Amino acid sequence: MNETDTLTIIKPDAFGSGKAGHIIAHLESAGFRVVAAAVKHLSRDEAQAFYAVHRERPFFASLVEFMTSGPCMPIILRRENAVPELRTVIGATDPAEADEGTVRALFAESKERNAIHASDSAENAEIEISFFFAGTERLPG
Ligand code: ATP
Ligand code: MG
Repeated sequence: MNETDTLTIIKPDAFGSGKAGHIIAHLESAGFRVVAAAVKHLSRDEAQAFYAVHRERPFFASLVEFMTSGPCMPIILRRENAVPELRTVIGATDPAEADEGTVRALFAESKERNAIHASDSAENAEIEISFFFAGTERLPG
């Protein structure tokens, strides 16, 4: 078995409305295991750094506002082919376009308040995991 790790974040909308447990159960049913987890209220600097790739986008200021509006839950998830499998399980950015049964179709409020983040490449997964977790916090493979 060739398992890999990816990063998810249960965003402040979903965490604040008590959906974290439902979302984790959904991800476990889809074959992912939690190998590290935290609850964290991002600072402005942290949210801007995490989404730095979007800093020129018109929605950047609003995204930072949203991501700092309350605590969120960063989680390292492990399974075979974790990065693409998680992107499939979370669904499209806009819940109106997300496939039925995906996390965003089930739990997201809007294109911005869309319940969950997932890394978009293996390289970004390791960068994003290091953003939130020290090496010792992740269960060994
Ligand atoms: P994420 O990176 O959080 O997993 P994603 O990869 O599906 O989401 P991105 O294009 O990377 O989507 O956008 C990052 C986040 O910025 C989105 O998840 C959403 O919260 C917000 N966002 C993206 N596009 C818009 C938009 N047009 N209007 C408002 N918010 C947006
Ligand atoms: Mg993205």
